[in-house]
Amino acid sequence: MPRRRPRALRAEQPVSRVWGPTPPFRIHGLSAGASLAVHHAEYRAGHLSDSCSLHPGATDRALRRYREFLHPPGRRPLYPREAFCSCTGCSFDDVRHARDMLEEVLERLPGRARAELGRLVKPMDAVFLRRTLPDPFAHRRPWRTEFWWYRRLVERSEWG
Ligand SMILES: [Zn+2]
Repeated sequence: MPRRRPRALRAEQPVSRVWGPTPPFRIHGLSAGASLAVHHAEYRAGHLSDSCSLHPGATDRALRRYREFLHPPGRRPLYPREAFCSCTGCSFDDVRHARDMLEEVLERLPGRARAELGRLVKPMDAVFLRRTLPDPFAHRRPWRTEFWWYRRLVERSEWG
């Protein structure tokens, strides 16, 4: 484990009575302020009926999953894979679900924090686009094709 910088440690100290039981923690690559904004957005989303998926910790997990998916070196194409189980934990097996989470939190963040997170996500999107292949049959799929990350070829596609 790399040693954490004092600033990152400090950001983890305060226990929030406003934002819920989970104390805000510093998200790798984000400032303390943006991390707090993310935590706030996640916690609030968890109480809204229109959000069934964004929850405390989801952004951090989504970023880790997205990085992990893009990590294999080389130029071989990568294929997102559907999750076999739709529970909160297993959903992240599908990297597209991780990207959904990032989209949802981006929509909910105030300007500065959104820009900061956007700067993390954008280069990963570029790699994702470079290393996945377009799905010529994406339009046949009944769901989610309004998001570009669902229009890439998947492993074991039920529709392809
Ligand atoms: Zn599961």
